[in-house]
Amino acid sequence: MSSESAHPPDDRPPPENPEEGGVGASLVEVFSSAQGEGPEIGRSTVFVRFGGCDLRCRWCDSPQTWRPVGRWRIETAPGSEVFEERTNPADCADLVETIDALAPMPSTWISLTGGEPLLQAEAIEAIARGLAARGRRIYLETHGLHAEVLSRFVDAIDLVSMDWKLASDVQPGPGIRAPEGVDFHDAHEAFLRVATRAKGVYVKAVLTPATQERELDAMFDRIERVSAAIPLVLQPATPTGGIDAMPGSKQLLAWLARAESRLMDVRLIPQTHPIYGAL
Ligand code: SF4
Repeated sequence: MSSESAHPPDDRPPPENPEEGGVGASLVEVFSSAQGEGPEIGRSTVFVRFGGCDLRCRWCDSPQTWRPVGRWRIETAPGSEVFEERTNPADCADLVETIDALAPMPSTWISLTGGEPLLQAEAIEAIARGLAARGRRIYLETHGLHAEVLSRFVDAIDLVSMDWKLASDVQPGPGIRAPEGVDFHDAHEAFLRVATRAKGVYVKAVLTPATQERELDAMFDRIERVSAAIPLVLQPATPTGGIDAMPGSKQLLAWLARAESRLMDVRLIPQTHPIYGAL
């Protein structure tokens, strides 16, 4: 969800879990980089990218994660950009150990991202709890729709980065039902209430030239109903996929002012990793 990579897509389904009794995760890749968006922008981060997503966002920078794949890759040393391939599913207990070794600094964030990581309830709970037991800082990047899954392990999460999907740019994918087509406001509000039980949470909305003021107002209403103090990041879409251009600066600053009139902590932050070509 947050940082680009060039791992090619593969439609092969993952094999049966090879580890008797173990919990398996279907991954795309694990790599180290710097966080490219949101309030922790620029901090060293190990990204654990889960395979599979039930949405289709027009600006998505990681369509290779939309379907589970047969093989995943892992960086062999932090920053090396040298990878070795492994077979899905990955054993979660082994994975916790491997991720811990790839992030030697205690301050390094571990980002559980996708795709949509909450589609793999048992795996993400096992990984999050395993990493939390080792004292790691866990950052969950999610489209913010599966509240019941988050509620299982929300106490283990240090920061929830919750997308608020706006109907102008998002379509439901396979396996998800959206009331009234693509209006996710009810599900997002329910998710945000659960996410406030984590150590930290912020909401992120990606803005494009097609973004409608009425859907922004509906989002502000819902966040305010939970708490006006919850941070909101307005992120202009990086031109990619189905997006040709960012909204203009005048428009972005008008949306920032509109948000600030309703909420207490609003920031306009673009993605940085495309600037220096990082993974
Ligand atoms: S939620 Fe949207 S941006 Fe995230 S992986 Fe799915 S399609 Fe891409």
